[in-house]
Amino acid sequence: MAVTKGIPADLVRLALTAGVTEVGENRVQEGEAKRLELGPSHPEVKWHLIGHLQTNKAARAARRFDLIHSVDSLRLAEALSAAVSAGAAGAAPVGARGGGVDVLLQVNVSGEVTKFGVAPAETAALARAASRLPGLRVRGLMTIAPLVDDPEKTRPIFRALAALAREIDRLALPGVTMEFLSMGMSQDYEVAVTEGANLVRIGTAIFGPRRG
Ligand SMILES: *Cc1c(COP(=O)(O)O)cnc(C)c1O
Repeated sequence: MAVTKGIPADLVRLALTAGVTEVGENRVQEGEAKRLELGPSHPEVKWHLIGHLQTNKAARAARRFDLIHSVDSLRLAEALSAAVSAGAAGAAPVGARGGGVDVLLQVNVSGEVTKFGVAPAETAALARAASRLPGLRVRGLMTIAPLVDDPEKTRPIFRALAALAREIDRLALPGVTMEFLSMGMSQDYEVAVTEGANLVRIGTAIFGPRRG
């Protein structure tokens, strides 16, 4: 996935024309604006929300993104489910596929206090609770590894997320699959892929340093 936060729409358009089909944005409003501008000429593109999501923006996010990577509380999961029940998801012309919202659970594997995400020990319980919410499909897990000098040091983080996904998969919860492991960024994606990532979130390695 090409991460396009802070990247002007014209540059994102070049990436889409070159064949990028997955786009990740951190903020609801910025992602929404780019989707409105670029979505019509690139209907094949999937739009991902990878940044923290506030409950009060859940309905808007459900309407505009194909996959929300940052569900880290039952409260947020409930807000997304309520938005689907209220008909928000897929209602708008450029909205995600109707009939539900696809999410990943964001896990704070490293335990850094500055990071969002559910604690590893609480992730299965969140998956179980989310599984009971109508209109919500949990499709995997996401994590952000700490910034380190040597990407090899992130390996235990990615390995732990993959193990957690296998554990949750074994619970066979209705409406919950572990198809996606969203892990790895520009500095550490190679390590993440060797640990099972199938959705890597790449910004600077594609677009160069972000301006602004
Ligand atoms: C910005 C961001 C990325 C991309 O980071 P790069 O180091 O530029 O590749 C990936 N994931 C999340 C959640 C981000 O916020």
